[in-house]
Amino acid sequence: MKKSGTSGRRLLLVEDESRLADALQVLLSREGYTVDVCPDGLSGLNAILANSYQAAILDVMLPGISGFEIVKKARETGISTPVLILTARSEVDDKVRGLDCGADDYLTKPFETRELLARLRALERRGKKDHPETLSLYDLSLDPASFTLTCTRNSQSVRLSKKEYQILEMFMENPGRVLSREQLAVKIWGYDSESEYNNVEVYLSFTRKKLAFIESSAKIKALRGLGYELREKNV
Ligand code: CA
Repeated sequence: MKKSGTSGRRLLLVEDESRLADALQVLLSREGYTVDVCPDGLSGLNAILANSYQAAILDVMLPGISGFEIVKKARETGISTPVLILTARSEVDDKVRGLDCGADDYLTKPFETRELLARLRALERRGKKDHPETLSLYDLSLDPASFTLTCTRNSQSVRLSKKEYQILEMFMENPGRVLSREQLAVKIWGYDSESEYNNVEVYLSFTRKKLAFIESSAKIKALRGLGYELREKNV
């Protein structure tokens, strides 16, 4: 593995075409990234498992194992490093496969370096969002690492499911705002579909039960025709 740069944001680049790898390493180092370059699939997999990267850029066709397999294995191991797949092929099939296996984004060769840098910045922003800080509102504290909701008045806590967590995160990030069922559905399922609206109600009722369980003063109030708001009781 070749390394470059000394500090700042650390990237993994897995690319077997040495001229492209060298050119990208120079470009990325100039942008302030520290770049680890691996020329084959296995060393790339070992690197992503062993180190903490801001993002990884993976070629698809590699000696040993493919870029798809690297990201698949990394995700199975719980590694959430944002991954950008580089591919010479632009077939839709490949894109679907890449996203299926847990890649975050795609770039088809040949590409503009400007575009690569823009995609990397977007991935880094997304990566940060994946590790948010503890949220606090009213008497609630929400820990994103453990999905634990705590009532700060009595220290009672409860673990949330992923969807309950997403619901409360959205309310706590938008204090005092009324959120529509559609907004909640899009946040939780990533799209707006009639069939998911009823599911929103189901998860809201689970979430209400968790709030009651820890005896929080906060409750999710339904506002007819408008949506829902997280409020303190009697306010
Ligand atoms: Ca290749």
